[in-house]
Amino acid sequence: MLNIRIEKTTTPKELPGKDNPLTFGTIFTDHMFVMDYEEGKGWIDPRIVPYGPLSLDPSAMVFHYGQEMFEGLKAYKAEDGRILLFRPDMNAKRANNSNKRLCMPQIPVEDFVQAVKELVKIDQAWIPTAPGTALYIRPFMIATDPFLGVRPSSTYKFIIILSPVGAYYKEGLNPVKIWIEDDYVRAVKGGIGEAKTGGNYAASLAAQMKAHDEGYSQVLWLDGVERKYIEEVGAMNIFFKINGTVVTPMLNGSILPGITRNSVCELCRSWGIPCEERRISVDELLEAAENGTLEECFGSGTAAVISPVGHLRFGDKVIQIKDGNIGELSQKIYDTITGIQLGKIEGPEGWTVVC
Ligand SMILES: *Cc1c(COP(=O)(O)O)cnc(C)c1O
Repeated sequence: MLNIRIEKTTTPKELPGKDNPLTFGTIFTDHMFVMDYEEGKGWIDPRIVPYGPLSLDPSAMVFHYGQEMFEGLKAYKAEDGRILLFRPDMNAKRANNSNKRLCMPQIPVEDFVQAVKELVKIDQAWIPTAPGTALYIRPFMIATDPFLGVRPSSTYKFIIILSPVGAYYKEGLNPVKIWIEDDYVRAVKGGIGEAKTGGNYAASLAAQMKAHDEGYSQVLWLDGVERKYIEEVGAMNIFFKINGTVVTPMLNGSILPGITRNSVCELCRSWGIPCEERRISVDELLEAAENGTLEECFGSGTAAVISPVGHLRFGDKVIQIKDGNIGELSQKIYDTITGIQLGKIEGPEGWTVVC
């Protein structure tokens, strides 16, 4: 249990108006959570303070060698006024897996969740309520030793910021166009692909730019060794429905273990729909598209929840799915997960956490 010191802002910002069409990640709330780590002392001085710039030494290790971890989850306001989080313990556990891989200190799961809850409660007026909106929560940790040598830092900051966000896609669940990348790779087995860390995103930008230039919104990554097997999309995991079975690439060390991914698999299985976590090659996908068994395709992630894919491009081959319409199962999964997140549908034990 953290003993959080609270220093409220004396100059609260204006809340975004009801008619303000929220975008993603541009507006930040009045407060942030901060705590410091020092070797030998552990985590010290947990506090909620006014949102504002940090003062860091230019030699702080995070700037030079990228030792950092981040997470992403959302808070929702239910119709009855409760503030709900979706499986926040999963974010806390995944943060610790990332921390371990990046030689950064662990944060007790209870402390992580407590810090999120207390901050969200203080800035609860910022939780938007229009359909498709939520308060995005961004916890992250950075290495702060002022040192240019290469080793794990001995000091860190763990920070949580909040951002009211709008519907990910303006016109609802519009299918996206995806570029299958066979030149650049995102991650390899043994690397840091399964950690949620900035470096993976820095590595992805060049391919993302290339896809954008070609008129595609996201990149679908292939495995870094054989360039044959499907891994994931940008900031989402990927699912296919082939001949009645849901298939997603198995967690192999280079894929980010999404919490939405895990939730999709659990829901499908609870409905009696087989959900296979296994290797799936581009060839298998092209074949399924050709013989008509590729029924649906969608990405899963906290930002968009479910993002239908209507068009995939691999070299000179194009796969059209559902003539650009959302699939039945994709819609059902979207409705169910967002229903649970908003407290309208009772989800499995532990999925809905009240702030
Ligand atoms: C965060 C993230 C995801 C999605 O994870 P969720 O927990 O479902 O939001 C997928 N891929 C990458 C690379 C990510 O960083």
